[in-house]
Amino acid sequence: MSFFCCKNISKSYGNENILKNININFPSKGLVFLTGPSGCGKSTFIYCLLGIEENEGKIYFKDKLVSSKEKFRQNHTSIIFQNFYLLDDLTVKENILLISSSSNYLNIVKKLGIDNLLNKKVRDLSGGEKQRVAIARSLIKNPDIIFADEITGSLDKKNSFIIMDLIKEISKDKLVIMISHDQELVEKYNDYVIVLKENLSLNLYKDEVNKTNINNKKLSLKKRILDSIFLMRKSKGKLILSFLSLIISFVLLGLILNVSYNFSSYLEKYKTSAPDYQFLELAKTSTTKIEGTSFSLVKSDVPTSDDLDELKSLISNYELGPNMSTFINSYTSLRMNGEKIDATFCPYLDINGEEVTDIYVNPNLYEKMEGNYLEFFLKKDVEYKSQLNKITQDTVRIALVLKVKSISKEMNLFDTPRIYYPYNAFNEYFKKIKLENLSNEMEKHVSLYSRLSSYTYDNDIYSSHSLYLIPYKNDVPLVMKIINSSSYQNEFSVTSRSITSYNTINTFFEALKSALGIFVSISSLISFMVLILSLNSLIIDERKEIAIFKSLGVTSKEFNSIYLLQILYVILSSFLTAFIIKFFAYLIINRYITFISLTNLKSLQYENSLSFIFTVGISLCAYLFGKRIIKKLDLSKILKEE
Ligand code: ADP
Repeated sequence: MSFFCCKNISKSYGNENILKNININFPSKGLVFLTGPSGCGKSTFIYCLLGIEENEGKIYFKDKLVSSKEKFRQNHTSIIFQNFYLLDDLTVKENILLISSSSNYLNIVKKLGIDNLLNKKVRDLSGGEKQRVAIARSLIKNPDIIFADEITGSLDKKNSFIIMDLIKEISKDKLVIMISHDQELVEKYNDYVIVLKENLSLNLYKDEVNKTNINNKKLSLKKRILDSIFLMRKSKGKLILSFLSLIISFVLLGLILNVSYNFSSYLEKYKTSAPDYQFLELAKTSTTKIEGTSFSLVKSDVPTSDDLDELKSLISNYELGPNMSTFINSYTSLRMNGEKIDATFCPYLDINGEEVTDIYVNPNLYEKMEGNYLEFFLKKDVEYKSQLNKITQDTVRIALVLKVKSISKEMNLFDTPRIYYPYNAFNEYFKKIKLENLSNEMEKHVSLYSRLSSYTYDNDIYSSHSLYLIPYKNDVPLVMKIINSSSYQNEFSVTSRSITSYNTINTFFEALKSALGIFVSISSLISFMVLILSLNSLIIDERKEIAIFKSLGVTSKEFNSIYLLQILYVILSSFLTAFIIKFFAYLIINRYITFISLTNLKSLQYENSLSFIFTVGISLCAYLFGKRIIKKLDLSKILKEE
């Protein structure tokens, strides 16, 4: 059985052949020196053995073909570099325990004489001390084979001998393959010497028993977390920038999503809660084509009783009544403390025995009021031709003091001042107003109400062209749909003040929302890309560390998880910080903008789940891109850079 051997190792860079057809069967322990002139490919050779350098040769460990170089590095090898390749910002202890732990840890550091340096930062150590730390780091994982790449190259003589004594000691029960130029050291310490050249075939293996140490050499979760934090220290600046840019995106995205959501649901609520929501204006429409032109004339009129019979077959559960709003609006003047004030009259459904003077006002009007009372004056001279072709005239005069019962919940953003009058109470009141002259002439009681609700079109008094159709509140959309549906639209039309004004605002808001949507999409996309770029550029910053980790036996999968952890720290911490910022921002905004509640739980859920999806998306993309970059890194080139 052979312990460790390589077959047909060849390597060329471009047209230059560096290694050609090298076959060596290594011993299972002892110090093997690898020598040869500078540039002959010694480092390249050991990187080929480690699998850090791609090549077509084959490696066998204990007679088994090594199929996964990563697993081989993880379980059986370790490497010490001339330039130490320690993480300077970390302490000696953190460096030694970077990827493995061992119960033998204290013995090793004592043996290497660095037990008093454990809490010192590596950057403050001498070269000899640094090299001893690097040796401790490679011993801690108890490898079968230790590679050493000119490890005394940057040390003085005295330190070189100290290090070589230690290596010699280690090689008593481990295989150490060491590159060295120093003839004196080679002669003094060698068990074997290999001079690297083309077509080299050597068998150094003597049949010896060797134990393999495969205790669990996988990187524990705790180590992965610690290592990801160590690595993050290096790229602090970039991470803070990514963190801040993400917070801004999250807050902006959140605010816009939340406002859009809240405003939409607010509008929906506003539409149905307007006091005149149920008052649909029903008219009969007829279209006459104007001869000789392509125009048509659409005429709206109060439906006749025949029309109303037809309506009964279409819908049920509704009430009909005269639309007196136009009459009231045309002939009424309003005063507040003697001063004229403008407002539009709309009906509300009074079913709780309201008085004629009980009104609702909208916030826009209420803001202009001083106190709760308004003076209502209606004056109209009514003239009509009687049957005898005689002109009769009546004067209607009404004076009331209206009392504000409540303020209707409405957006005062776009609305004009509005008064909601009690519809049934007004009807009753108008029934009591007798048209004296007309009554005398017709010899019966004729009230204002009966003239207004007679449905016979009379220009003098009745100027509305519609009736009020009052369905149950929940039926409003259905009734509107049925009546406005294509088959009936030429006969009846229904419009609604509150729905029309809602639709106007909604159209405006939808346009605004689309604009905001485009803005959010573009800015999210930009921040998305910037973030992925800056997270990926971490890999470039950390490329030396990635090469060190991997050459020491951390597998790609393990390093990817360390990278993923770094991404998650940045993204989750900014997500949480943004959440807290938004929470306080909403509290403040809600204090000043009262018409929508930004802390509405449902909308927060909606907004946070979208932000969360965004977070997962970025993390995944950053991770997948980063993984590809890590895979493509030329480890051997990076390690040879210094
Ligand atoms: P040694 O360790 O024997 O000094 P190296 O193995 O470092 O030699 O390098 C051998 C030769 O290969 C050198 O001429 C070097 O310039 C070249 N070389 C090493 N690595 C690369 C690389 N990644 N790309 C191109 N040339 C390389």
